[in-house]
Amino acid sequence: MLKGIAASEGIGIGKVMIVAEQKLEYVPKEVTDVDAELKRYSDAVDAFCEETMEQADAIRKSTGNKEAEILEGHIAIIRDPFMNGEIENLIKSEQCAEKAVEQVCQMFIDMFSATGDELTMQRATDVKDIRDSLLAILLGIHQVKISDAPANTVLVVKELTPSMTAGIKKENIVGIITETGSQTSHSAILARALEIPAVLSVEGATTKLSTDEQIIVDGSNGEVVTAPSITEIADYTDKRESFLRDKRELENYRGKKTVSASGTEYELFCNIGTPKDATKAMAADGEGVGLFRTEFLFMDRNALPTEDEQFEAYKQASIIMKGAPIIIRTLDIGGDKEIPYLGLEKEENPFMGFRAIRYCLKNRDMFKSQIKAILRASAFGDIRIMFPLITAVEELRAGKELVEEAKSDLRASNIDFDENIQVGVMTETAASGVIAHLLAKEADFFSIGTNDLTGYTMAADRGNGDVAYLYSPFQPSVLMMIKRIIECGTKEGISVGMCGEAAANPMMIPLLISFGLTEFSVSAPSVLKVRKNISKWTQEEADAVTEKVMSMATEKEILDYLKTVV
Ligand code: PEP
Ligand code: MG
Repeated sequence: MLKGIAASEGIGIGKVMIVAEQKLEYVPKEVTDVDAELKRYSDAVDAFCEETMEQADAIRKSTGNKEAEILEGHIAIIRDPFMNGEIENLIKSEQCAEKAVEQVCQMFIDMFSATGDELTMQRATDVKDIRDSLLAILLGIHQVKISDAPANTVLVVKELTPSMTAGIKKENIVGIITETGSQTSHSAILARALEIPAVLSVEGATTKLSTDEQIIVDGSNGEVVTAPSITEIADYTDKRESFLRDKRELENYRGKKTVSASGTEYELFCNIGTPKDATKAMAADGEGVGLFRTEFLFMDRNALPTEDEQFEAYKQASIIMKGAPIIIRTLDIGGDKEIPYLGLEKEENPFMGFRAIRYCLKNRDMFKSQIKAILRASAFGDIRIMFPLITAVEELRAGKELVEEAKSDLRASNIDFDENIQVGVMTETAASGVIAHLLAKEADFFSIGTNDLTGYTMAADRGNGDVAYLYSPFQPSVLMMIKRIIECGTKEGISVGMCGEAAANPMMIPLLISFGLTEFSVSAPSVLKVRKNISKWTQEEADAVTEKVMSMATEKEILDYLKTVV
C-alpha cells in the first residue's frame, strides 16, 4: 500500500498508465536568419494558442468554466507582452527559439517559485506547462496523448499539469496518482472538478508502479492499494458502489433548506479556521459559519496579528459568505493549542490552566484589539462574537464589558459596527453546563462545543488513548449536559447550536432534534450528509428514540441501541 494526500474523493480500480516526462532535448544553435527564427517562434505560439483554445473548449464542455479558465490563462501568459518581448529579444540576439523560450520561462518559474505564496507558486507550474508544450511544438515532438488512454486507466504522473488534464476523458480515467501537489494545488482542484478519485504526493509513484499493473486508488483515504487480492477488489468495488450511490443521493439536498420530516427548519452552518475556508463552506452549501476558530490567524507567525489584519480576515469571510451569519470565536489558545510567541508558561495541567477566555481577560489590549476587529467587520455582515471556555458568569460579564468598551472606542472614532452584535457563550465546560440556566439569562446564544465538553465532563483527555473508552459524547453524563444546555437556552429564548464534532454524527442527530437544538455547525464535507440525516426524522420519532436513550445507564447500551435505529 502506498500513502499520499487524499485530494479527490472516491475509489478507482484500474490499470496504471505512467505518463513519463517528455525528453525535450535540443542542441542550441546560433541563428543566422533572425526574422525566420522569429516567425518560427510566433508560429509555434500560434499553434500553442490554437491547441490550448481547443483543449479549453473541450474541458469547458466536459468539466466547467473555471477549469477552462486555467487553460485560457496559459494563452494570456504566453501572449503577455513582457514575456513575449523578452523571448523575442533573445532571438534577436541570435539565440534559437528553443533556448529563448527555455531561458525566459525559467526566469519566471524561479521568480514565482521563490514567493512562498501558494497561489503565485501555482503560476510556476503553469509556466512549466507552457514551456514544455512550446518546446514540443518547436522540436516537432509528438506528446503522449492522455486522450488516447483506454477505459479503466489510472493515470500516474510526476505532476499533473492543466494541459494533461485537458486531455483526460472522464469516462476512461478512473484514478489519478501524482508525485507532487497538495490539497489546494491545481491538480487537486482539477481532479475534484472532474470527480476523479486522486491521491497526490505519493513518493516515487512513477517508479514504484508499472504500466498495466492493476491497482486501487482510494481518494477518500489517500491510499493506493498495489497488487490487490480478489477479496480486496471485491471490497473496494462495494465501497465504490456505495460511495457513488450516496454521492448521487446527497446532491438532492444541495440548495435545499435544512428541515426535519416534521417540517422544523434548522440552521446548518460550517466550522472554519481561515477566511479561505469560507469558500469551502459556500461550495459545500453551508448556510453560515457556526464557528470561526480565530487561533489560526495567530498561528504560523512571529507576532500578534494587528487589529487591521484581523479586521480584513473577518470582513473577507463575511464577504465570501455573502453576509450570512458568522460566529467568530475569540482567541482560544492554551491546552492543545500553542502559540509560541505569546510565551505561555508550561503548566502542570494546561487543559485546566491559563487559557482561552482566562488568558484573554488578563491580556486586555490584545483581547480588545480582536474584539474591535470583529466589531468593525460586523458593519459588513451578520457577525456574532463567541467566548470560549466560559466557566463562570463573571467571565461572560467581563467579556461583555470589554465589548462595550470597544464599541465606545469605535463610536468615538466614527467607525461603523453593528450596535446590536450578539455575544454568545461556547458551552464546552462542565461548569457552563451546570450553570447554563444562569448563563442563558446573559448570553445572546449558546454553541455547544462537544469536543471539550466531553473531555471536561468525563475528566478524560481527548488525546489519551488509555482513557479513550471514556471520551464519548454518548456517555449518559455528556448527553445530560447537552440536554440541559439546550433546555436552559430554549427556556430563555436564545438560540442553541452545536459546533463540536458530535453535531455531524448521525446517531446524535435524533437526540439533538428532540432536545431542541436550532443550529448545527459541521465541517464543510459533512453539510449535505447532515441535511439528509436531519430530513429523516420526525419530531415524534426523534422524541421516542431520545426517551429510550435517556433511560439507559451506559454508553454501550446507548450506542448498541442507536445503531439499530439510524
Ligand atoms: C469544541 O470544543 O467542541 C470545539 C468545537 O472547539 P475546539 O475543537 O476548537 O476546541
Ligand atoms: Mg473547544
